[in-house]
Amino acid sequence: MSAAPETRVAVVGSGPAGFYTAAALLAADPPAEVDMLERLPTPWGLVRLGVAPDHPKIKAVSRAFERTAKQAGFRFFGNMEAGRDVTHEELTRLYDAVVYTVGAQTDRQLGIPGEDLPGSWAATEFVAWYNGHPDFQHLEFDLSGERSVVVGNGNVALDVARMLALTPDELAATDTTDRAIETISEAAIREILVVGRRGPVQAAWTPVEVGELGELEGADVIVDPADLELDAASAAELAAAPPTVRRNLDHLRDYARRQPAGKRRAIRLRFFTSPVAILGEGKVEAIELTRNELVDGRAVATDELEVVPCGVVFRSVGYRGIPLPGVPFDERSGTIPNEGGRVEPGVYAAGWIKRGPSGVIGTNKKDATETVQLLLEDAREGLLSRSDERLEQLLAERGVVPVLYTGWEAIDVAERTAGEPQGRPRVKLVSWDELLAAGRTE
Ligand code: NAP
Repeated sequence: MSAAPETRVAVVGSGPAGFYTAAALLAADPPAEVDMLERLPTPWGLVRLGVAPDHPKIKAVSRAFERTAKQAGFRFFGNMEAGRDVTHEELTRLYDAVVYTVGAQTDRQLGIPGEDLPGSWAATEFVAWYNGHPDFQHLEFDLSGERSVVVGNGNVALDVARMLALTPDELAATDTTDRAIETISEAAIREILVVGRRGPVQAAWTPVEVGELGELEGADVIVDPADLELDAASAAELAAAPPTVRRNLDHLRDYARRQPAGKRRAIRLRFFTSPVAILGEGKVEAIELTRNELVDGRAVATDELEVVPCGVVFRSVGYRGIPLPGVPFDERSGTIPNEGGRVEPGVYAAGWIKRGPSGVIGTNKKDATETVQLLLEDAREGLLSRSDERLEQLLAERGVVPVLYTGWEAIDVAERTAGEPQGRPRVKLVSWDELLAAGRTE
């Protein structure tokens, strides 16, 4: 790849898509210059604040991001919100190109009665809370009920179910926030009921995550063998599916054969089941479920209904992108309309805000590379331009004080140092005040 000399790019968002975009730009010949803008004082997006804390190996991808951040030509501006501290129009003026890698920052809705009752949560809120996201620390999760329900059959649903099932010892070794460790450890939960609207063949989760459930210290996994009897259509789908789907089924069949060992908690996986209402007086007390049939691969409700008591519901049916001021947005898909990542010459997107919330962290590498190729093509064709003004000038005029990469490194050291005596990777700083105090080093 090659770029015109000194192509200067703003990458908005510092999760995997942002860092893979930056890496591809810095690897261009000649390398582009990258200013990464991030709303939070900390980088890494969902690697820090989404990936489950008991998955440290997945979080270790941040080491590759650290190497990118150390390269000449890369600068990090944390605590800076695009659209608030600097507008889209200003970014397009200051830089040859702007790449939005802001992810999908909200949740999809179920659209059923009771969805807004206290105790009905988006899984994303719970995930952000236990991971120490500073905007979610005020939330109070009441886990005093004996049953929690998780709606959805993706990997986030499994993360939530597993986190609820971890023992105090399992949690203690992680960077889960202290408050979340305490709340989950003291929870009265006996059963974590995970409901999928379609069957085991159609579930979106992946084998490693399904297999982990069977190894939990403190929870049995319960699957009804009847849910694994496949109709002709599902059997045909399975035969044509990638091996990962068969591995998922192997795990589920293993669970269906097991006798519960009477562990402290149980994760029950139920299929062909949709919520029709969340019930309760002033807070969640039960969920009404319907049995589904699969028709042409779609879940179609039968008239079989059931009310299941529960204290809390986590809706884990996918993320959704939100619009940025001044940037085109497609409400239907929750993405920035683009072709291969090009919104128009000078404006690009990568990651979930480009393609929707799918794939694993590594998927964003190919995705970002595709975007960067188009950007560099536009640079070569002379379609990009910028003014002489620099971002620092504009921020100084506005009195905006960013957290620079050295500031993040100071936060990182403070967190790791706090974690060390406890044998934890880090103890996160979880309030804006603490993060800014540690991160404003200059
Ligand atoms: P996802 O993989 O898209 O799964 C969403 C689930 O919600 C699907 O089972 C879907 O069922 C279900 N759903 C959607 N609308 C529904 C409705 N109205 N009622 C009932 N169920 C509904 O999303 P995700 O779990 O949020 O994960 C997002 C991405 O991050 C995925 O690519 C995931 O693999 C990835 N991720 C990976 C890991 C990991 O690698 N460990 C961890 C977390 C997340 P249908 O199929 O029927 O639509």
